[in-house]
Amino acid sequence: MTEGVGSKSIVFLTMVIEVDLKSESDFTDVEVADVHYSSSDDEHYRYRPDADEWRTRLCLRGSDCQDPHCNHAHCLAELRPPNETRVLHPEVWAAGIGRFYGQAMTAELLRVFNDYYFKTHEFECPLWAHALYFSIKKHDLLADAHFPWDYGLTMDVDVLRRGRVGGQRPFEYLPGLWGALQSRERQLAFEQDYN
Ligand SMILES: [Zn+2]
Repeated sequence: MTEGVGSKSIVFLTMVIEVDLKSESDFTDVEVADVHYSSSDDEHYRYRPDADEWRTRLCLRGSDCQDPHCNHAHCLAELRPPNETRVLHPEVWAAGIGRFYGQAMTAELLRVFNDYYFKTHEFECPLWAHALYFSIKKHDLLADAHFPWDYGLTMDVDVLRRGRVGGQRPFEYLPGLWGALQSRERQLAFEQDYN
C-alpha cells in the first residue's frame, strides 16, 4: 500500500478515469466550507441544514488542519453520509460525498481519497476504503479472498438505507460493481464448498 504517486489510470470495472493523483495544485480553487456549530447545543445542531453535511467530505487541508470550525473529515474513519434521519439531502449526494457506498466517485473525490488512503495505517482503514481501493485497482475478485471488504460495503449500504427517511438508496451504483460483488460471493462460496 505504498504506491499511487504521479499520474495513473484509475480503472473501474467498466470505465477508465484519468486522474492526476496527488496533484495538490488542483485543490487551490476548491472552496472549503466554513461551518460553525456548537456540539454542546444538540437541538441547534440537529436543525441546521449545513450541519447535516458534517464530515461528508475529506478536508483538503489534510489531517493536520488547524481550523477548529472545519466541518470536514480529517481521517477516512470520520467520513459519514449526510444526516438524513429527518430531511433528505439529495444536493449533498449530488455534490459527492467522500465515503464509498458503491456509487460513482468524481475525479476530485478520488484524488483526495488517494491522498488519505496511502497515509492511513491498514488497521485504521475502514472496509469501505478497501472496497473503493479494490474497485479502483480492478483487483482479481478472489485476491484477498478472505478479507471482507465486500461484506463491509454491503452492510454499510444496508445501514445507510435503514437510517434514511424513506429508506431509499440515494445513488446509482458504479456500473458493473454490484454484479462483480455477486460473482465474488459465488466464487467464494464455491471455494468453500470444494476446499
Ligand atoms: Zn479541516
